[in-house]
Amino acid sequence: MIGVLALPQRWALLPDVDPRRLVRCPWLTYGLVQTTVAIDRLRAWFGRGGLDAQPPASSLVRYIGDTEMAAAVRDALDRIAPAARDYVIRHAIVIGVGWSSAGWTGGRLPDHRVCIVVSGRSRDATCIRGIALHEMAHTWLESVEESPALSSVEDAVDLRGAVERRARILAAEWSAR
Ligand SMILES: [Zn+2]
Repeated sequence: MIGVLALPQRWALLPDVDPRRLVRCPWLTYGLVQTTVAIDRLRAWFGRGGLDAQPPASSLVRYIGDTEMAAAVRDALDRIAPAARDYVIRHAIVIGVGWSSAGWTGGRLPDHRVCIVVSGRSRDATCIRGIALHEMAHTWLESVEESPALSSVEDAVDLRGAVERRARILAAEWSAR
């Protein structure tokens, strides 16, 4: 089930938002709301007046690493849903490695930020953008601040599979924008 949610479904997800305003949100897709974490983040974004605010510029993303990759990362950020873009800019730091650097050591991440690492090994902007979209989808959909409790190796594999499926669905939606 991939695609834009029907309006009643969107309204049910966001009971505090006037349904007529949700018509202005073509980016509110199934992929964006696959987890309760993501729905909570979306509600918080609407609650802060995100719909009426100017979308944050992709240039505001905290990016460190290989400069050759920075444009592809910002291009990815331009394609993701405004609420997710706001979340990534507020809570994440993107690290690009593999294009011109083999690796490096730095200090602690500022402000307990979530770390998104993107490989530039391909040296291909489209490929790098796709990796960034996929990792930003993980950032939006999952609570990476908390380690999930896993009771067995099988659970770990199943969880990983579900997590990967979700990120692939959302990254594919964003990539098509
Ligand atoms: Zn993944």
